[in-house]
Amino acid sequence: MEVPGRWQDIDYLLLREGAMVGPGFEPCPELREALHNDLRILVIGAGGLGCELLKDLALSGFGNIDVIDMDTIDVSNLNRQFLFRMNDIGKSKAVVAAEKVMQRVKGVKVVPHYGRIEEKDDEFYRQFQIIALGLDSLEARSYINSVVCSFLEYNADGSPDITTIIPMVDGGTEGFKGHARVIIPGVTPCFYCTLGLFPPQVTYPLCTLAETPRSPAHCIEYVHLIQWGQERSGDSFDADNPEHMKWIFDEAFKRAQQFNIPGVTYSLTQGVVKNIIPAIASTNAIISAACALEALKIATMCCRSMDNYMMYMGTQGVYTHTLSHEKDAGCLVCSPGVPFEVDISISLQKFMELLMDDPRLKDKLSKPSISYQKRNLYMQAPPVLEEMTRPNLNAHLFELMDKSSGKLNVNDKKLTGVLRVSVSFRGQGDVVVDMDTAGGG
Ligand SMILES: [Zn+2]
Repeated sequence: MEVPGRWQDIDYLLLREGAMVGPGFEPCPELREALHNDLRILVIGAGGLGCELLKDLALSGFGNIDVIDMDTIDVSNLNRQFLFRMNDIGKSKAVVAAEKVMQRVKGVKVVPHYGRIEEKDDEFYRQFQIIALGLDSLEARSYINSVVCSFLEYNADGSPDITTIIPMVDGGTEGFKGHARVIIPGVTPCFYCTLGLFPPQVTYPLCTLAETPRSPAHCIEYVHLIQWGQERSGDSFDADNPEHMKWIFDEAFKRAQQFNIPGVTYSLTQGVVKNIIPAIASTNAIISAACALEALKIATMCCRSMDNYMMYMGTQGVYTHTLSHEKDAGCLVCSPGVPFEVDISISLQKFMELLMDDPRLKDKLSKPSISYQKRNLYMQAPPVLEEMTRPNLNAHLFELMDKSSGKLNVNDKKLTGVLRVSVSFRGQGDVVVDMDTAGGG
């Protein structure tokens, strides 16, 4: 039975007009039903952010949620990953989180997927209308960004085809800092457009570590990177071996005393060596709430989306700031494609050599496979396909592309998604323009 007043707060948003509503929003009770019955959302990650996200989404009226996570529950998760208990240790995070949310929020269906995000194919990701990311690694974000952006297609006028867009809401936390952002492929910057936002991992120059340490971390890194190799070269260092960690701590402590540096503790030693940033439950809660709200806005249009990146800082007081980052027009992942102007006489083989040598694609390709629309022009693998497509290498690219400019899709082991290449042929531009004006006149 439905608890009276259960949807009151959501209804305030869905049943009333407002100055900030999104385009095409019409307040009506059917919105809540659609949110509950029709819309499918995927939550990636069932850790600190993921637990919060699942709870927030379920309580906001999302009725069909999938969750994917490859991890099992560890005792150290229990202080903040509040869906898990002592007797869940060792079980799949996704499975347990799904069960717990379904127990607590009546009527919601949560489907767990225990495994790696890379194991799922494109069809899996295409089922969802929204994807919410509660991840802690750049690699995983980058991967899913590439997959979702590879679904994106552009109309002839260069605008994104909205039927191919799957919006993403991304949250991230690091200690007392966090961010929430909305990625609408083709419309707002994708993860790759703004890769520069993520600072490189902290590293220290070796000379500082060796000669002029100034912080406890310098002392710890010295023992970890230099002294271990000098004094225990027979042992390969294992960060999960308590005896190894204790040795690093003891030596770092002695070194810190020599240089009169206070603050070397065992937990700091673990933090520096394993690169651990403490996770804070309240930061996760705030960031997840922002992400769930953005998902609700996208799903119902009850309000315009955040534009497009909110950062949160809770180190001293509480501070948030929202910035509108710009798309990178030449982004390899979400833009209409890297432009290539080539001669009509070029063979596919020659074109592939051009691709490999192009400075814009430096170090991005190793063995590219190329397709045009639904046709494979050249596949590096499997051997059967390679053999079938090999004759195309000597064919003219112009013929293979039906004598018109267009987009090629390039796949490569080194890429996580599809690289779009926009090919035009010298002397052909005029022909295309002529046809366009003929149609318009
Ligand atoms: Zn991009």
